[in-house]
Amino acid sequence: MKEKHCPYCHNTVEENESICHSCNKDLTVQCPYCKQMIKAYDEVCPCCTTKLHKKFNPNILIILGLVLSLIWLALNFILIGFLSTHPAVLIEKDKHGDLILSISDYVSLVLEPMLITIVPYIIALVKKHKTNIAATGLIVNVICSFVFIGYFIHLYNLAK
Ligand SMILES: [Zn+2]
Ligand SMILES: [Zn+2]
Repeated sequence: MKEKHCPYCHNTVEENESICHSCNKDLTVQCPYCKQMIKAYDEVCPCCTTKLHKKFNPNILIILGLVLSLIWLALNFILIGFLSTHPAVLIEKDKHGDLILSISDYVSLVLEPMLITIVPYIIALVKKHKTNIAATGLIVNVICSFVFIGYFIHLYNLAK
């Protein structure tokens, strides 16, 4: 038999459970078409056989976030590779008194915080409230992305 998942916390629930044992949400809902009481995880109404909207799967959010994190990490490694072959970009082009970083500064200031952005997704994979945690992770990721773009533009201007 196909596994049933709570549509709120996405943990596995038993067929006869009327309240989710993980998040305590009521698993009985009313079918919007025939108004019979059905299970919140039903994809097809057992009374009127209308196909119900598939519940949002928070794993999509987690996968999206992890992919985003990995893309940014890959870009960071490319940039570090570039900086290690062009050290002058960091050292000699400081005309405006800008903050000049060494590669090890860069790793601890940019790369390590970026590694931390993966943590919320790992937590979301094993915890309840997956959607909230994964969404928070995505917001952090987007902020980090802007910081990275800003720093990249800064380096580009220094290299000119
Ligand atoms: Zn639940
Ligand atoms: Zn129905």
